[in-house]
Amino acid sequence: MAKLLFHRSGKTFYVKDPSKDYHCQFGVVPVKELQKASGRITTNTGKELAVIDSSFIDDYRRIKRGPQIIPLKDIGPIIAETGIDDKSRCLDAGTGSGALTFFLANITKEVISYDIREDFQEVAKKNADMLGMKNVHFQKKDIYEGITENDLDLITLDLPEPWKVITHAAAALKPGGFLVSYSPSVPQVADFVNGLDGSPFVHLKTIELIEREWDVAGRKVRPRSQQIGHSGFLSFARKVWRKV
Ligand code: SAH
Repeated sequence: MAKLLFHRSGKTFYVKDPSKDYHCQFGVVPVKELQKASGRITTNTGKELAVIDSSFIDDYRRIKRGPQIIPLKDIGPIIAETGIDDKSRCLDAGTGSGALTFFLANITKEVISYDIREDFQEVAKKNADMLGMKNVHFQKKDIYEGITENDLDLITLDLPEPWKVITHAAAALKPGGFLVSYSPSVPQVADFVNGLDGSPFVHLKTIELIEREWDVAGRKVRPRSQQIGHSGFLSFARKVWRKV
């Protein structure tokens, strides 16, 4: 298991392999110190650091990225609005780097992850190994062609043409299951939401989340100058009718 080291200055170090001495700007942290479960440790130059075990989020922040990943601010509402839990089965398409897939897998029973690009899925598979994820099933598949699984609780889409998935998602989801589409541009939102007309889905809402981080240093308290720009819109739909 990886470790995290903290210095009072706010500097943080991620120690991927704690079976070896770790070298940083505060000196060398010997293996014996790294093996402590948590607490204060001292480097060979007498500097004090705190050590803790890394957790999912620490490892997650180190995944390798192929295509653009969904930021954390947009992952939060997918989990909250759908109420998925350790009994849920989900399908995520496309896999990309696996960012959303891994967050879903961290709290649900099983995630099936489709992508048409083998090269992206290879990156995601390595990331899944790094995270020790056992409940992710990667499949090289074009979701516009259909969905093999059924009885799903959630389907998430991060694809150029999400409206092409509505009919397949209607067949693959449980009654009450959720379909969530994440798209960067307005025409995609319009075509997806309009495409729900006459389908077994009800459109719950479409949102854009704007996160504004603040700097807090003494009484210098103000919005950070450099902020994350636009990411995407989230549209939530729920399967409520069997057929129309
Ligand atoms: N949500 C991912 C990023 C997805 S990027 C993350 O958080 O990491 C979009 C992905 O969709 C790309 O990898 C692309 O190859 C895949 N894709 C595009 N069209 C697809 C389709 N029809 N079926 C399956 N995957 C598709």
